[in-house]
Amino acid sequence: MLPWKTYDAMRQAVATDPEEFWLAAARRIAWEQAPVAACRARADGWHDWFAGGTLNSCHNAVDRHVAAGRGEQPALVWHSCATQETTRLSYAALQRRVAGFAGGLRALGVGKGDRVLIAAPCMVETAIAMLACARIGAVHVVVFAGYAAAELARRIDDVTPKILVVASCRFQGRTAVPMRETLEGALAAAAHVPEGCVIVQRAACPMPAAPGRAQDFHDFHALEQSPPVAPVPVRAEDPLYILHTSGTTGAPKGIVRDNGGHAVALSLSMELIYDCGPGDCFFTTSDLGWVVGHSYGVYAPLLGGGTSVIVEGCPSAQVVGRLCAAHDVTCLFTTPTQLRVMRQGGADAAGCDLPALKRVFVAGEYADPTLLDWARRHFHRPVVNHWWQTETGWSITAHFFGLPEAGPAGMPNDIGRPAPGFSPMVRPPAEGGGSGEILLALPLPPGCLAGIWKEGALRPPSAYLTGDGAWYRTFDEGLIADDGSVHMLGRSDDVIKVAGRRVSGVQIEKIVAGHGDVHACAVVSVSDGLRGQRPVAYVVPAAWPVRAECAGEIVERVGRGLGRWVGLKDVLFVKQLPTTVSGKIMRRTLATA
Ligand code: AMP
Repeated sequence: MLPWKTYDAMRQAVATDPEEFWLAAARRIAWEQAPVAACRARADGWHDWFAGGTLNSCHNAVDRHVAAGRGEQPALVWHSCATQETTRLSYAALQRRVAGFAGGLRALGVGKGDRVLIAAPCMVETAIAMLACARIGAVHVVVFAGYAAAELARRIDDVTPKILVVASCRFQGRTAVPMRETLEGALAAAAHVPEGCVIVQRAACPMPAAPGRAQDFHDFHALEQSPPVAPVPVRAEDPLYILHTSGTTGAPKGIVRDNGGHAVALSLSMELIYDCGPGDCFFTTSDLGWVVGHSYGVYAPLLGGGTSVIVEGCPSAQVVGRLCAAHDVTCLFTTPTQLRVMRQGGADAAGCDLPALKRVFVAGEYADPTLLDWARRHFHRPVVNHWWQTETGWSITAHFFGLPEAGPAGMPNDIGRPAPGFSPMVRPPAEGGGSGEILLALPLPPGCLAGIWKEGALRPPSAYLTGDGAWYRTFDEGLIADDGSVHMLGRSDDVIKVAGRRVSGVQIEKIVAGHGDVHACAVVSVSDGLRGQRPVAYVVPAAWPVRAECAGEIVERVGRGLGRWVGLKDVLFVKQLPTTVSGKIMRRTLATA
């Protein structure tokens, strides 16, 4: 039960005595040794959370619930859109498998602080490998399974893992894609040689023999049969995982997450933001290779004693509905891209009837209001947006359903108000104006990046700081309203300057997306001899052929909505938009096309 009823009371509590606020939040976690301080400055200029505390994240996510009598409750439900398999693991079964695989890793010589790189799709084994690393104090580095060999090699060299865990194949739609070639290519290209390679053999396409230069080749399921090991306490500030940014925020960087701050922030968020408690079922459509998959596909629901539903592939509206109904999902966390897939797949116009579902949360990229409205009609439930970064690990701004009198914040499609410990301010551009880059005051709250992994060590995230070192740069552009709600306009480098006036691509996209013939769109800037820059709209139509008048109608809508000065003339119809591997629209690629 949270001690605050209103948003203001919660903000007041964290502002008045942040140490007390966070030490109280830390009591949600089972510590081996309780922390003596909440936030402490580090010698390198960054900060640590919960110094003096020792804990084990796997114990908090799994063993603790078995000990509390939840052994038979489902912990993890996995569905593959490719193979149509569904697996359901109770907390007791998850504990057995994780403890066994942790024993297997230890037998391979993996110990505290060693990195284990996991290149596997969203599978039960991926989650087991993550938790097994946490159990023995090793650091997991999950890498999206769809990367080419060169990208995998780059990450191998960045984190120099002792062991690789790789699935024998991944799926593109329903087609199995063997991982062997990628693995061999990566091992040949990387300077670092891991000591061993563990293969998750999948029936659709087993990997026949030892790949490349890895000295040892082990079977995942055989290793799971190793003698189980107990959770090992680690220091709160010890790294739990490294996760590379997707590239939305520049060149990939290895974000380091600690154990203590991560456990505290995520368990608080479950109650405060998502209003989910023990026994509730949380369904995250994100791949485990991304931060949302880490935080809300694995750790947060399990830390909270709930059930987590995860999926391999991109589920249709029918599959999402079936999974929600079959597992009494209370909270669905998804992305605009996933909602577009559901809408395009001809989801039932009358929507679905999911009595257990309370709310749908959306994050990851700009969500146009037309799409959110469609989702509200489809689910007959509140659909809310919130703002995230890989770096922050949980939402910077959100709507707080755990506060009984939180009240509305901003417009229904906005990203909400700051989560506790996040204090944003807008740095207006040199030429003035209301919007600007959103900066966050330091220290960042628990759960955010403990630093960057660089040249074999944890470094302070200097590249994210303002020149005076006082603020964290989000590189996102927005506005803050009087009630504290944040209005997001997109990445700073997506802002278009037309004859000295600033307009974000997102502002234009919002209007373009409202045209009934538009399925998806991206607006980027091109240089203009007269006005410096002008926008160009790339549009994926809802259906081909496109009506001849459509481009003119879109130009007209934007002129009416924002003013003719915006100067949109070019509307280009395309079959699809380029996306990052995590499915977000890559505006930068279009801008240089
Ligand atoms: P990533 O670290 O790859 O998840 O990307 C983080 C970036 O995604 C943020 O800096 C934003 O630019 C964007 N983003 C995340 N959530 C939202 C949201 N709700 N609305 C708009 N953009 C978002």
